[in-house]
Amino acid sequence: MYRSHNNGSLRASDINTEVTLSGWVQKSRDKGFMIWVDLRDRYGITQLIFDEDRTSKVIMEHARTLGREFVIQVKGTVIERASKNPNLPTGDIEILVSELTVLNEALLPPFTIEDETDGGEDVRMKYRYLDIRRNPVKNSLIFRHKVAIEVRKYLSNQDFIEVETPYLIKSTPEGARDFVVPSRMNEGQFYALPQSPQTFKQLLMVGGMDKYFQIVKCFRDEDLRADRQPEFTQIDCEMTFVEQEDILSIFEGLTRHLLKEINDVVVDKFPRMLYDDAMRLYGNDKPDIRFGMEFGELNAVAQHKEFNVFNNAELVVGIAVPGGNSYTRKEIDKLIDWVKRPQVGALGMVYSRCNDDGSYKSSVDKFYDQDDLAKWAEVTGAKPGDLICVLSGNVNKVRAQLSALRMELAERLGLRDPKVFAPLWVIDFPLLELDEETGHYHAMHHPFTSPKPGQIELLSTDPGAVKANAYDLVLNGNEIGGGSIRIHDKATQALMFDYLGFTPEEAKAQFGFLMDAFQYGAPPHGGLAFGLDRLVAILGGQETIRDFIAFPKNNSGRDVMIDAPSAIDQEQLKELHLKLDA
Ligand code: ASP
Repeated sequence: MYRSHNNGSLRASDINTEVTLSGWVQKSRDKGFMIWVDLRDRYGITQLIFDEDRTSKVIMEHARTLGREFVIQVKGTVIERASKNPNLPTGDIEILVSELTVLNEALLPPFTIEDETDGGEDVRMKYRYLDIRRNPVKNSLIFRHKVAIEVRKYLSNQDFIEVETPYLIKSTPEGARDFVVPSRMNEGQFYALPQSPQTFKQLLMVGGMDKYFQIVKCFRDEDLRADRQPEFTQIDCEMTFVEQEDILSIFEGLTRHLLKEINDVVVDKFPRMLYDDAMRLYGNDKPDIRFGMEFGELNAVAQHKEFNVFNNAELVVGIAVPGGNSYTRKEIDKLIDWVKRPQVGALGMVYSRCNDDGSYKSSVDKFYDQDDLAKWAEVTGAKPGDLICVLSGNVNKVRAQLSALRMELAERLGLRDPKVFAPLWVIDFPLLELDEETGHYHAMHHPFTSPKPGQIELLSTDPGAVKANAYDLVLNGNEIGGGSIRIHDKATQALMFDYLGFTPEEAKAQFGFLMDAFQYGAPPHGGLAFGLDRLVAILGGQETIRDFIAFPKNNSGRDVMIDAPSAIDQEQLKELHLKLDA
């Protein structure tokens, strides 16, 4: 038996008990006549004591050789500590050691296994198994486990069945590139790893499973923006005989359950916002509504003066920064530099100070008098003491730029409190999105999403205006889930593929199996998927998903610990019927 107790469990009530403990040496202090060792495992730390008067000489000497992270086993007696440590659950006791066995020695770790470590991100990723011994990472993984358990509990109670779907499949379009896997047994043919189990979960509905979920890995070969992973986890769900309202209600329930069980936070009914309003008021389809600073569109009050920058713009739009009038000229200049950074891309920024006496001072006083600026204040909701920041240009671009500025300022103003949770449904997304480069429309969600009833005719006249039965769940400015009511008849699905530029042959080759299935009694169905990694990070009050993933990849999609991806040898290439170009 390696242990009778773990290292977090012994208390004063255990004094005089004979115990066996195993674990890692966190640290040791050698005072000559006494040696203390902190023994660590997942459950906590227990102090061991070796004492000249009470411990044999051999064991004393052996204890002196223990290095950090050695794996040891001890037998001994639980005794009362002379100086208690109220910060440690086991702080009332220590173990007077009578037997010591070194189970394995350890090299000196390349960084300290402490909450605040001296190890940089790269070295911690290379030695991730050591990083996982640290409380912040360990606790994040335990936290993730708790969230996953609560998800399973809630959905199982609602009659959902967890079904596994295959990883070696054919492409499912979720808007990214596929990872592909060559088939040895089928020369020249490839599997694609699923970007999501989308088509399979729909087939499960045709199969009569009624309510499906799966905590599942998805794979998307995208250029990795910060804090994205090429493989990530979804809570994937699908339901039969449902309308949008049924889905929103079940998954609002799931989110509320998680907030209650995990964070002990009770949230009222989630507000809903039309996609068009989200774009107009926040410049963003995933607005953070923990704070205001809503956009005010200023075309009507700022155009048709002498200021051509605004006159020539599609959209002139501003926000009121609470208390922003206290910014110095220099600070405002810095803000202007910030919006002009290539990542944001604005050409400039106009501002108007709202003075405490009700007067205004703007960077464009030449063109706008006090009455004009008072209208700006009215439209943006600015109060005395605020600063109005105004951007102008192409609608889509300027909304994205002002949204970035809004988030940045909110961050600086401390308005993005991770302990406050503001969920929001964004509904009525457009069905199609215009790719400005190619001039083609593609599915905003995915090609299986149904248009709103009665809108299908609009497809041929004004495709961009067609709304979808599609919804996203947003939490604190992050999209944590999204889904739609699906098309469930062959004719509409074929029409959809046609609008998306698939020839009938291409549609048949890629999705024939789904359209075939739709001919055998496909029920109305819909669903959604949550991004589990992001959801866990937000519930855990963290910005980055990496600490909640046991073995994450870096920004170049590499696992630096196992050194993947890596080359494969000639033999293997030959077996797979592959030849490399380079
Ligand atoms: N498959 C979709 C996605 O991965 C989710 C859904 O429509 O249910 O975003």
